[in-house]
Amino acid sequence: MIRIAVVALSLLAALVPARAQERIGVVASFSILGDFVRSVGGERVAVTTLVGPTGDVHVYTPSPRDAKQIADARLVVVNGLGLEGWLPRLVQSSGGKATIVTVTKGIKTRDADKDGEPHGHDHGDEHTDPHAWQSVPNAKIYVANIRDALIAADPAGEASYKANAAAYLAKLDALDREVREQVAKIPAGARKVISTHDAFGYFADAYGISFIAPLGVSTESEVSARDVARIIKQIRAAKIPAVFLENISDPRLIQRIAAETGARIGGTLYSDSLTAENGDAPTYIDMVRHNIRTLTSALGH
Ligand SMILES: [Zn+2]
Repeated sequence: MIRIAVVALSLLAALVPARAQERIGVVASFSILGDFVRSVGGERVAVTTLVGPTGDVHVYTPSPRDAKQIADARLVVVNGLGLEGWLPRLVQSSGGKATIVTVTKGIKTRDADKDGEPHGHDHGDEHTDPHAWQSVPNAKIYVANIRDALIAADPAGEASYKANAAAYLAKLDALDREVREQVAKIPAGARKVISTHDAFGYFADAYGISFIAPLGVSTESEVSARDVARIIKQIRAAKIPAVFLENISDPRLIQRIAAETGARIGGTLYSDSLTAENGDAPTYIDMVRHNIRTLTSALGH
């Protein structure tokens, strides 16, 4: 009789999904990481994102509510590589016991100024480009790190996390192929563009499109007249056909550069943030797809 009761109970446990109050609380520093955590965590995880859609993760000012959310969380998922400079103080002030998960662990990082001239106005600690998610192969490393962190925090969910991650990784493989196919449609000589800040270095390295940006890897700094003059010279010398706006940045700089050079404004690229549900890029996959289509339609034939 007791044995039957135990079997019945364990059957029940297997059938009933984790109830809301039993979900693993995870805080993600910005919207793209929040999307990854949701994709891998599924029903078992309650995700909160600190820097929401169209927010700028480089220059965020945390609120007391953010500290409360971190205090209550089991995991705090961060990009690292100097992206969330405001985060260590927030975690400290929250007094919580959350495990910090740095999802860029294992990624081959790139130097912030590898391809451009030194910007001069960059802050001293910005030697590494933090925008690793812009390469889909890197996003796969993010997802694997998130999967492993969720399993460590919630071993009972291992099978679920593994299945969700495998399904999502397969989608990312398809996305990576799609990006490569789209880039192949752009004539080799036209694979160069201007964007506002240096957010596409990993994308450039992975897919062979050059990006030049008046701002460095952070949106924090001001653009000098010298930087703008340099960009205008580069656009003319390299006959760069199109410049692109970014969802997180002030459009006026790019509009001015377009006006002075005659380069077309090719559209808006999503660099560091997703959009709200009804926008062009509510998920990471939508974002990458939107960006490559925007680039192809501006640069392709
Ligand atoms: Zn950025």
